[in-house]
Amino acid sequence: PSLRGLMNTATLELKNVSKLYRVGKKEVHALNPITFDLLGDPARIITVAGESGSGKTTLASIMLGLLGPTTGQVLYEGKDVSKLSGAQYRDFRKNVQAVFQDPFAVFNPFYQVDHLLEVPIRKFNPGLSKAARRKAMEEALEAVGLQPSEILGRYPHQLSGGQRQRINVARAIVIKPKILVADEPVSMVDASLRANILEALVSLRENYKVNILYITHDLTTAYHVSDSIIVLYRGSVMEAGDITKVVESPQHPYTQLLINSIPWPDLERKWDNQRYANPDIQEISGAGCKFYSRCPNRQPGCQVTPQLVPLFPRHLASCLLHQPQANLDSNLTQNL
Ligand code: ADP
Ligand code: MG
Repeated sequence: PSLRGLMNTATLELKNVSKLYRVGKKEVHALNPITFDLLGDPARIITVAGESGSGKTTLASIMLGLLGPTTGQVLYEGKDVSKLSGAQYRDFRKNVQAVFQDPFAVFNPFYQVDHLLEVPIRKFNPGLSKAARRKAMEEALEAVGLQPSEILGRYPHQLSGGQRQRINVARAIVIKPKILVADEPVSMVDASLRANILEALVSLRENYKVNILYITHDLTTAYHVSDSIIVLYRGSVMEAGDITKVVESPQHPYTQLLINSIPWPDLERKWDNQRYANPDIQEISGAGCKFYSRCPNRQPGCQVTPQLVPLFPRHLASCLLHQPQANLDSNLTQNL
């Protein structure tokens, strides 16, 4: 067993987390109650996939402690993130890192890349010598497939978009976090460079045992890099489980539509294409399947909110067309 296993590694748990935004008199149910966790060992990449507006960034922001949930709790090492203070809060900030969509946002044109990488090291490992800091920076750059000698000492304008986004990932891992939340890390990067960045995520899981929440609207990259998937539609989990099972044998009509709309193996095709991303759909107030108005298989009974139920080992769906398999675990965490 690895040392991490023996040490009872970092856990990040969501317990019945939901989010309701209030904008004036309007209420947006961005996320319906969801319970799952990112556990330490063995490290995994869990994809959260969904169209634009399905609640992915809301979920990421709540997991990172940047946004408070309306109901439920986020627990880091068993403790409520909103109540962490002092050393525990620092430990959370150090070990749960984020990579955001925009590869340019974090770069200050007047500072060399070294500065960008050094800030988190100085903050979280203030005791390190200059040589040790340099070594940490080199390791992080190598982990994302960059040559330190080609990167250190450069200014942002001397780097390509793909290099910038890989540095963005390097910056998140330079202090060796246990968990990485990557919100659409490749959606603003040129198609030709995406594979490199995704390979970097896989290598983080393999070589550094980092657990990764990979958020995307792109099912094809999810299929290539992740171990399991949670499919969100308008804030609700439609289907979840082992990535191969969900993609190769989708059970929910929504997931089936999505997968059938992808001309495999076209890596460019986005989920939120015109055909299926319809912002005009009517809000079903409160109860009912979120997919009802678009579902080709809908039935009168579907206006009752479906539960997420187990259909096969490591494969869940929330659709009334399916009966739960009573002998299987219905817990989302156990099935990811
Ligand atoms: P995604 O990342 O999947 O595109 P988001 O989590 O950004 O989805 O948004 C989910 C829903 O919540 C959308 O309907 C969005 O308009 C709404 N929303 C997001 N942030 C806010 C906010 N700060 N105030 C009000 N509504 C918001
Ligand atoms: Mg988003």
